Amino acid sequence: FVPWLDADAKPMIEFSGVTKNYGDFTAIDNIDLKIFPREFFALLGPSGCGKTTMMRMLGGFENVTKGTITIDGQDMKGVPANKRAVNMMFQSYALFPHLSVADNLAFGLKRSEMPKSEIKGRVDEMLRLVQLGKFASRKPHQLSGGQRQRVALARALAKAPKLLLLDEPLGALDKKLRQETQFELMDIQEKTGTTFVIVTHDQEEAMTMASRIAVMDHGKLVQVDTPDRIYEAPNSVYVADFIGDVNIIEGRIAKADGEAAELAWAEGHSPIRGMSGAGVSSGQGGAFAIRPEKIVIGTEEPTDVHNRISGEVEDIAYLGNISTYYVRLENGALVKSQTANTRRIARRGITWNDKVWLSWTDTAGIVLAG
Ligand code: ATP
Repeated sequence: FVPWLDADAKPMIEFSGVTKNYGDFTAIDNIDLKIFPREFFALLGPSGCGKTTMMRMLGGFENVTKGTITIDGQDMKGVPANKRAVNMMFQSYALFPHLSVADNLAFGLKRSEMPKSEIKGRVDEMLRLVQLGKFASRKPHQLSGGQRQRVALARALAKAPKLLLLDEPLGALDKKLRQETQFELMDIQEKTGTTFVIVTHDQEEAMTMASRIAVMDHGKLVQVDTPDRIYEAPNSVYVADFIGDVNIIEGRIAKADGEAAELAWAEGHSPIRGMSGAGVSSGQGGAFAIRPEKIVIGTEEPTDVHNRISGEVEDIAYLGNISTYYVRLENGALVKSQTANTRRIARRGITWNDKVWLSWTDTAGIVLAG
C-alpha cells in the first residue's frame, strides 16, 4: 500500500496552490498536497502553523483564498460542508448530555436520508465497532473520557463518510489510554476503509498511527513522508528537531556525492561522515543530525569506525529502560548518547566525569543543508 510512490495513483484529496489569508496574514502559503484513499494522514506542527486551517478548508468550514481543493476529482469551491463526503470529529466531543449513547449515535442518522428501519441496525453496528455495545443506554456523563471519545468516533463514522477529519481526537485522554486508543483508532480505520486526516501536535501519536505525516511550519509543508523517513531522513534541521530527540552539529559541507556527505565541524578533527540530505552542496554551511540512540558510547577508542569523538560525561539521565549520557566535547558542544539498559547499568562502568568515546557508523546520521 504505497500509492504516493505510484505516479498513476488517483489521490482522494488534492490541494493545488492553496493559500489562505486572514486579512493580510497568510495562514496557509501556496500548498500542494495529495492524500490517497485509505490513508491515515497526519498534519503535524507547532501551535499556529496552520493545521486546523487545513482541516477546516477541507471540511468546508473555511473558504480558500487562492488555489483549489478537490475531493475525488471534484472541485470543492462553493460546496458547503454538509454536501461533502466528509465528516469532522472535533476536539471537544460535543455529545448531547441528555441523550443516551445509542440516541447520540442515532441523532445524526435521523436527520440524514437513512430509512428509520435501518437506523437501529446501523447504531448497533457502530457500537460493536467501538466496543461499546454494553453502554448503549448510558448517558455521556456515565462514561469515562476514553469511552466518550469512542462514542464521538462512532457518531462521526455512522454516516459512513469516505473521509474523516479528526482534530486532536485523543487530546483529552491520559497517556496510557491514549496509547491504547491509538491502536483502536488504527483498527477502526482499517476495518471501515475510511480515509483519516488527523491533526495532532503529538509527534509520537503521529508516528504510531499515520501512513504519512506532513510536518508544517508557518503555513508551509516542510516535509511530507512516512514516519520512518521523517525520523531517519529528515529534510531539514527543523524537521529533525521537531520529531524526536536529536543532536545537531553545525559546520561546513566538505564533500557531497549523491548518497553520502561529509561535514567539517571543528579544527583538528576529521569531517563527520553521514548520509546526504536534500540540496546539500560542497562548500556551503550545513549541519549534521544524529539521533542519540545511534551514538555508541564506550570507554575505549573504537578503531573500526570513522566517526569517533572523545569527550567527558557531564550528566547521566537514568530512565529505567534507557539511559541518556550527556557528553561534553573538547570544542564545548554537548552530545547526547542513548543506550538501552538491557543489562544492569552499573556493569557498563561509565559514570560522571569519565572520559568516553562516542562513535557511529557512516549511515547513522544525515548531513543537512544549512
Ligand atoms: P494549534 O495547534 O494551536 O491549534 P494550528 O496549527 O491548528 O494551531 P491554525 O488554527 O490553523 O493553527 O491557525 C493558523 C494561524 O492562523 C494562526 O497564526 C492563527 O492565529 C491564525 N488564524 C486562525 N484563524 C484565524 C482567524 N479567523 N482570523 C485571523 N487569524 C486566524
